[in-house]
Amino acid sequence: MELDSIYTQLIMEHNRSGHNKKTMEGPDIIEKGHNPSCGDDISLELKLDGDIIKDAAFTGVGCAISQASTSMMIDLIKGKDIQEALDLVNTFIGMIKKEISDEKELEKLEDAIAFKNISNMPARVKCAVLSWHTLKEALAQR
Ligand SMILES: [Zn+2]
Repeated sequence: MELDSIYTQLIMEHNRSGHNKKTMEGPDIIEKGHNPSCGDDISLELKLDGDIIKDAAFTGVGCAISQASTSMMIDLIKGKDIQEALDLVNTFIGMIKKEISDEKELEKLEDAIAFKNISNMPARVKCAVLSWHTLKEALAQR
């Protein structure tokens, strides 16, 4: 089974726009993520204001899925506090593992719901979860 076309379109749009793909001045945290099975490499930068993720950006190379997933995640976590961001990571990973299927719960993921059926393409799962795992590592540092 393929991803629905509307979801494919969302992934392509995020991949093309690159609005979150940049470096920032003086990030508080830089965390690198690597997915050797595909060759995806990302560097996630976060700026914090207390517990709030004030800004986030990334650089790196990789397939459309890893790049789009990172960009969607950044849109989602900007302005959230650390606990909210970690909850979103758990919801995303729960969705990928098909442990969470409640539509209301998944709505919180906004565009990232596009990856709902990625587990039907097992080779791409690591691409989709890379940035979310990287975020979790980043937030565990502080
Ligand atoms: Zn990939």
